[in-house]
Amino acid sequence: MIKLGSHVSMAKPDYLLGSVKEALSYNANALMVYTGAPQNSFRAPVEELKIAEATSLWRENGYRMDDVIIHAPYIINIANTVNPDTFSMGKEVLRNELIRSRAIGAKYLVLHPGSSLKDTLENGINKVVEALNEVLEEGFNVTVCLETMAGKGSEIGYRFEHLAEIIRRVNYPLGVCFDTCHTWDSGYDLNDFDKVLKEFDEVIGLEKLHVLHINDSKNELGARKDRHANIGEGYIGFETLSKVVHHPLLKSKTKILETPYIDGLPPYKDEIERLRNSSI
Ligand SMILES: [Zn+2]
Repeated sequence: MIKLGSHVSMAKPDYLLGSVKEALSYNANALMVYTGAPQNSFRAPVEELKIAEATSLWRENGYRMDDVIIHAPYIINIANTVNPDTFSMGKEVLRNELIRSRAIGAKYLVLHPGSSLKDTLENGINKVVEALNEVLEEGFNVTVCLETMAGKGSEIGYRFEHLAEIIRRVNYPLGVCFDTCHTWDSGYDLNDFDKVLKEFDEVIGLEKLHVLHINDSKNELGARKDRHANIGEGYIGFETLSKVVHHPLLKSKTKILETPYIDGLPPYKDEIERLRNSSI
């Protein structure tokens, strides 16, 4: 069975147990959480997260902790070359997320590479490499998965080559999270998905791909905007996204929806069902 779930919330008092229950209510067999608000670094103590109960419930349903994905907060910018405080704060928050991911028993932590702001992309990449080499030295048994980005502003990671370079220069194994909305927005035409996947394999290597974010896009190919649309409601379209989800080379990969709520309600149960049943 394909491993398909969505982003779910993790909030007090039930924390991870609540996340697992939410995912199960969508008939998901994978899930992704931010371990606190994505835009700040305030985090509840690990002991309060109800990890043991959550793990039991998830496993009782026959699912694996490897398919519980953690997303690092997007305030982290380890590509910042100008402000040493932002850079060291980014490293500290990342280190904390790795500790929490390990405590949860997650295998993958998704991370946005960052933005080089007014500096060059190459200098930004140098800082990302420096930060990852420092932080990962400790050894966490969690794989950081760099996300493919849309190329909004000065974002690093909108070309597979950027991620390949970081992976090559970091002394510890890294993975990749492939976001369909971001790659589309950065100019990879997913209508010819086999071609994109081949390019990914040549530049990065398919064995590095562990997680996919399945999102439609509110913008045209190459718009570099990064605005997620509901499945089948955007420019990528249902058929292409279904092809990605069911691609034989991606069978073992964990797929996560990050589509917007509709009228204040999560669309995930319906989107998961439609994608699951759409095998062609
Ligand atoms: Zn992301």
